[in-house]
Amino acid sequence: MMVKIKHKPFELNMYINGKWRGGETNPKRKVINPANGELIAEAVEGSVSDVKSAVQAARVAFDNGVWSDLSPEERAAYLFKVADRIDERHDELAALETMDNGKPLRESDYNISSAASCFRYYAGLVLAPHGKTYNVPDSVQAMVIREPIGVCGLIVPWNFPLMMSVWKIAPALAAGNTIVFKPSEVTPVTPTKLFKIFDEIGLPKGTANMVLGAGEIIGNEITVNHDVDMISFTGGTDTGRHIMKAASGNIKKISLELGGKSPNIIFADADFETALDYALYGIYYGSGQVCSAGSRILIEESIQDKFIARFVERANRIKVGPGNDPETEMGPLVNQEQLDKVLKYIEIGQKEGAELVCGGYRLTDHGYEKGFFIAPTAFIDTKPEMRIVQEEIFGPVAVFQTFKDEEEAVKLANDTRYGLAGSVFTQDAGKAMRVIKKIRAGITWVNSYHSAYIEAPWHGYKQSGIGFSLGVNGLDEFLETKQINFNLDVKPINWFSK
Ligand code: NAD
Repeated sequence: MMVKIKHKPFELNMYINGKWRGGETNPKRKVINPANGELIAEAVEGSVSDVKSAVQAARVAFDNGVWSDLSPEERAAYLFKVADRIDERHDELAALETMDNGKPLRESDYNISSAASCFRYYAGLVLAPHGKTYNVPDSVQAMVIREPIGVCGLIVPWNFPLMMSVWKIAPALAAGNTIVFKPSEVTPVTPTKLFKIFDEIGLPKGTANMVLGAGEIIGNEITVNHDVDMISFTGGTDTGRHIMKAASGNIKKISLELGGKSPNIIFADADFETALDYALYGIYYGSGQVCSAGSRILIEESIQDKFIARFVERANRIKVGPGNDPETEMGPLVNQEQLDKVLKYIEIGQKEGAELVCGGYRLTDHGYEKGFFIAPTAFIDTKPEMRIVQEEIFGPVAVFQTFKDEEEAVKLANDTRYGLAGSVFTQDAGKAMRVIKKIRAGITWVNSYHSAYIEAPWHGYKQSGIGFSLGVNGLDEFLETKQINFNLDVKPINWFSK
């Protein structure tokens, strides 16, 4: 049975200095359900002056200490409350996430639970000790204390609308910062609901501000604004490159979680069914719109025929459909733009000479015609220099590459500008460890794929990012480090003659 929630299109407003705010004169942005093209919300379109107000509110709140001067217990109590409210609204939030992003309900379910857990995790960490002391040669007690950075600008993408927001908002607030947050203009629904929760629990005015609208205007102003002390961004590598440059005006701290083209390496001695299952999961989970997707499947030559045949057979059986249908295994792409981009890459792959072995087309039958559905797709006969091998497609498109031995597997695995994730399937423990150690990527798996844990740091090498999300490292991102040298022997130094 389809899960439906009845509603009129929501009005989504911005949240600045503890008040909901409509836009100025800009027309509203239509937020569309990617499964059927229905209008689900109309979002106000913010302006540069809205960003300036939000930054000013966050600046004043930070400087007044309404948030940063709270005791750790008080700050943690707010964050625990947020987690509880997310849990109370779990079903509504999951249904909205599916409506807005298109992902199947079972994925949204996990994402919403994980958002609540993330708030709890960082609420707990607020109470953990953060400082250090050092033994130094003088009669001095050297120590380090950790302090909030100030006003943090947080900018996130559309692929995990609530979860990506929370990965930044929870640690930034836990650390005592105030924030100016921008969700993706494509998926602002659940992030706006999160700010409703902030409003309900009475988060001090100006602590958390949200501005809605276009990246090039709202995101850019957050990035260049000199009253913003740090930018934490998740999104595409090219946008990240722009942010690095734009943030240089006041030498902001930057933290970037960017794109990927991750290798999933399958050796002939792997447990065949496990490797096959995870290869499908690695690329088609989230319709391939996952930064860490196993979009390059590197397969040892001796098993390629059998493996690819079974892969294609299973890919063709994946149930593609609207996310609110419990039978659905893979949802639509997020919007027309993403659909066009993925179809373009499929065309590029064919022109480059790769062979399409499954999918490669939009689903247009009855029931699909208004959505952005695409069949699970895979290419074989690829070459390392092809664009479909090198570039992030961000859709359900697997690219097979083959290798003869360990050395070639590693060489191919590392042969892109990205370094986000990677996986190895083998039953030889030594080989698994040797290969994983040589993969230039921050998130890796052995005989598994896609698992991510709030407790462990998430981070990309190379052009996949700078800095960390999650874990203790994720909190560290939002903290300054202050050295204090406390003289224990108070007398003149007599460096200069009297
Ligand atoms: P995107 O870069 O287009 O947009 C991300 C965010 O940046 C959006 O909120 C957008 O409005 C904003 N933005 C766009 N232009 C901007 C500018 N000039 N200045 C400031 N902000 C701007 O990315 P997307 O299409 O929303 O998301 C997909 C990308 O995100 C993929 O590349 C994916 O790999 C990446 N991603 C990475 C991770 C990770 O953890 N490494 C996680 C999720 C997604």
